[in-house]
Amino acid sequence: MAWFACLPREITFTVDVESEGPRGDAACARMTEALMTLIETGNGLGTFFILGEVAVRNPGLVREIAARGHEVASHGMHHRALARSGRAALGDELARARGILEEVSGAAVLGFRAPLFSLDAGSAWAAECIAAAGFAYSSSVVPAWNPLHGWRGAPNKPFLFEAGLLEIPVPLGRVGPLAMPFLGGMYMRSLPPWRMKQFSRQNAATEALWCYCHPYDIDTEPDGDVAEAGNGRLARFFLRRNRSLMAPRLAALMAGRTSRPFAARLAAFRAGAAVFAV
Ligand SMILES: [Zn+2]
Repeated sequence: MAWFACLPREITFTVDVESEGPRGDAACARMTEALMTLIETGNGLGTFFILGEVAVRNPGLVREIAARGHEVASHGMHHRALARSGRAALGDELARARGILEEVSGAAVLGFRAPLFSLDAGSAWAAECIAAAGFAYSSSVVPAWNPLHGWRGAPNKPFLFEAGLLEIPVPLGRVGPLAMPFLGGMYMRSLPPWRMKQFSRQNAATEALWCYCHPYDIDTEPDGDVAEAGNGRLARFFLRRNRSLMAPRLAALMAGRTSRPFAARLAAFRAGAAVFAV
């Protein structure tokens, strides 16, 4: 799979560590272990955005991620769009989520990723809450129109919110007027090889290159569903689709590449970032 050959050598492998609830926790932990091993195969280290609920139920997993040298970051307390928490509650929630991870891992937590990439024009106020909770950076914006969450007009390279928060937006592939993430989740499982190749060529000069994966993306065990509760039929279809393709595709992406955590790349991103006034 030479689809990824023209992408830059430097990448950050990110994992959104989430499970649908206690019954999905064991699978979530097994798949997270597998992803750590995949990243470490290339002598790399990744950034793990861990859901607060998962950290409370399985602090051992957080400790292991930290002990293996990976960056521990936050995926919020609960897996819901930022706007659903509301401004008053979100600040407390984020501070709590960050505090739990710092206590368990024993290290400073700098990074935040909004569930569902839900930092968009409608929840722009949340950037201030994220900064106030003590995070130095966020990786939460799809800088284009998207049927789920997307922010048309947001910069497609690292930028600063007025609150001082650094945002590292999702790398996108473009087809005419449409743009979409391609190095992660259901997109990476669903897109045909020629499209992956085309999108990779478009990102040959993308400095802040990163990919993302959920534990369930690589879970091919028949009862291994960890993300189905509360989802409709169409969502379930995309959550399950082509899971067996994901691990080989990630391995192909990482061939000849080494992942460095976001925390190690922040100074470079910040140096080139302009303020995005919203
Ligand atoms: Zn998530």
